[in-house]
Amino acid sequence: MRIGFGWDSHEFKPGIPLKIGGVTLPHDQGLGGHSDGDVLLHAITDALLGAIAGPDIGSLFPPSDPQWKNADSAVFLSEALKRIKCVGYELVNLDSTLILSTPKIGPHADAIRKHVAGLCGIPADCVGIKAKTPEGMGTENAAIANVVVLLQRC
Ligand SMILES: [Zn+2]
Repeated sequence: MRIGFGWDSHEFKPGIPLKIGGVTLPHDQGLGGHSDGDVLLHAITDALLGAIAGPDIGSLFPPSDPQWKNADSAVFLSEALKRIKCVGYELVNLDSTLILSTPKIGPHADAIRKHVAGLCGIPADCVGIKAKTPEGMGTENAAIANVVVLLQRC
């Protein structure tokens, strides 16, 4: 078995859609970044790549490369899943904690869980989606994602 850990953060910017876990959430701001800024999918991607000691998301999909401008982050996740399969592993489960002041994730957690499970090809009850507010951290204008994954030989 292998475990992997991923972490990511993006800054809130007005006038762009907010995508978390591939789900567009109703909010007046979105997450900036070269791709669609999906902080959760980026952290999952990095956790998968880390579990097989692979290159990180920034090395595989450099922000300097124009082809990743406004890219759907599901593409990054799909590449990471392909790479773990290539070396003989499959994803068993993943757990995540988002840290952001707004919007509240609770009402959307189920939709995010189901969507992420679909992208990863695992049951929804193998995807943990939790969220905290950034008490005392001074990161009110950012969304942060922490993810761990467990892989097993397939
Ligand atoms: Zn990112």
